[in-house]
Amino acid sequence: MATRDTMRAVREQIVKPRINPFEMMLHQLDLARAHTNIPGGIWEILCRPERALEVSVPITRDDGEIEVFTGYRVQYSSARGPCKGGIRYHPGVTLDEVKALAGWMAWKCALVNIPYGGGKGGIACDPTRLSERELERMTRCYTARILPLIGPKQDIPAPDVNTNASIMNWIVDTASALRGEAVPGIVTGKSIELGGALGRREATGRGVVFTAIGILQRLGIDVTQARIAVQGFGNVGSIAAQLLAKQGAKVVGISDVSCGYYCPNGFDIDDVIRYVETSPGHLLAGYSTPGMEEITNDDLFTLDVDVLIPAALEAQITSRNAANVQAKVIVEGANGPTTPEADLILAEEETVVVPDILANAGGVVCSYFEWVQNIQCFAWEEKETNQRLGRVMQRALTEVWDLSQERQISLRLAAFVLGVERVAQAIRLRGVFL
Ligand code: NAD
Repeated sequence: MATRDTMRAVREQIVKPRINPFEMMLHQLDLARAHTNIPGGIWEILCRPERALEVSVPITRDDGEIEVFTGYRVQYSSARGPCKGGIRYHPGVTLDEVKALAGWMAWKCALVNIPYGGGKGGIACDPTRLSERELERMTRCYTARILPLIGPKQDIPAPDVNTNASIMNWIVDTASALRGEAVPGIVTGKSIELGGALGRREATGRGVVFTAIGILQRLGIDVTQARIAVQGFGNVGSIAAQLLAKQGAKVVGISDVSCGYYCPNGFDIDDVIRYVETSPGHLLAGYSTPGMEEITNDDLFTLDVDVLIPAALEAQITSRNAANVQAKVIVEGANGPTTPEADLILAEEETVVVPDILANAGGVVCSYFEWVQNIQCFAWEEKETNQRLGRVMQRALTEVWDLSQERQISLRLAAFVLGVERVAQAIRLRGVFL
C-alpha cells in the first residue's frame, strides 16, 4: 500500500533542485561540434528551437474550483520532417526541460534515420492529484490550445512520463471534434482500436533491450549471465526488465519514485508488473518477495551489476554519484539521465554508456510505423513491426559503434555526431527561407 510516508517520499523527489536539461543538451551538442564540419550559421540554427509555445490550461476541478496549469509544446527542428515527440505530465516540467527533450528528439530521429524532426510537450502538474475526469479535462484543454501547432503533417505527440494511450485517445477525440474530421495520425501511442500500432507500448523497452544485447555481445558478456538494475518501473523500465528477464538475464535491482528493492537471486518481473498494475499510483511501494531487501535509488546505482538502466528522469547520474556506479554498461532508457560531468567520471572508470538518443529510440521508431499505418489506413501484424524495429535499431547501433571505434570517441559523441550532422545536412539542402 502507498502510505503517507511513501507519498511524502514521492513529493521530496519531485521538489529536489534540478540541473537545467536544456543547458545539458547544449553542452552535449557543443562537445559534438569539434567532430563535425558544420558551419557557424547552421550551428546557430541547431542551438535553438524553431518554435516554443506556452499555454495556460484552466480546468474546473471536480469540486467546482478553477485551477490553471501551464503547458508547453516545443518544435525543435522540422528540417527532416514533421516534428515528433511525447507529452509529459510532471510537476518538474519547465520550458527548458521541454526544449531539451525536443532537441534530443531531433537528434534521435535523425540518428535512426526516420523522416521526422524533433518536438516535445508537457504540462507542469502532479497527475496523482487529479481524478480521471480532471485529467481528461486538462488533456482536452491542452490539446485545444496547442492544436494550431500539431497535426499528422506538422507535429505528432506521443506518450511520455505519466501519459499513456488513454491520454492519446482524448487528444485524437478533441482534435477530430475541433477539426471536423478524423485525425488518428495526430498522435501515436493511442489504443489499438483507434489506430494504434501493435507493439508500440512495448517498443521503447524492446529497443532498450535490442541495444543492451547488442552492446553486451560486442563486449563479450553473455546476456544469460548478466545482472541488471533498473531505475524507474513505468512503461520503459518495466518492459525492459521483463524482456531482459525473458532473455535469461537476472534483474536484481528495481526502483521507482516511491522506493527501491534488491533481490540477489533476481525478481520475477511478471509478478512485479502484476503488482504494479493494481497498486496505488502504480508504484512499487508495498511489494514483497522472499530474499528481497529495500534500498534507496542511490543504492540502486551502486549495485554490482553488468547493466544499469536508468528509465526515470533526467540528471539521475551526476558528479555526486557517478563514481559509485559499479555497472559495466549503462543503457539509457530515460532521456538525459546522465549529466556531462558524470559522463567524464564514467569514461575514466571505463563504464560504457549507451546514450539515450540511441538506446530509447525504439519508441519513436515504432511511432513512425504507427503513423505510416495511419496514413495508409492499413494495420501491420506485430511480428512485422518488431522485425522492422529490430532492423532499424541494429543499423543505428552498428553505425554508432563503428564511428566510436573509428574515431575513438564515446558512444554518446558518436551518436550526436551522426544525428546532428544529418539535421545539419537537411538544413543545408533546404536552404534558409527569407
Ligand atoms: P512512466 O511515467 O511510465 O514511468 C516513469 C517511472 O519513473 C515511474 O516508475 C516513476 O515512478 C519513476 N520515477 C519518476 N521519478 C523518479 C525518481 N525521482 N526516482 C526514481 N524513479 C522515478 O514514464 P516512461 O514513459 O517509462 O518514461 C521514462 C523515461 O523514458 C523518460 O525519461 C522518458 O522521456 C523516456 N522515454 C520514454 C519513451 C516512451 O515511449 N514512453 C520513449 C523514449 C524515452
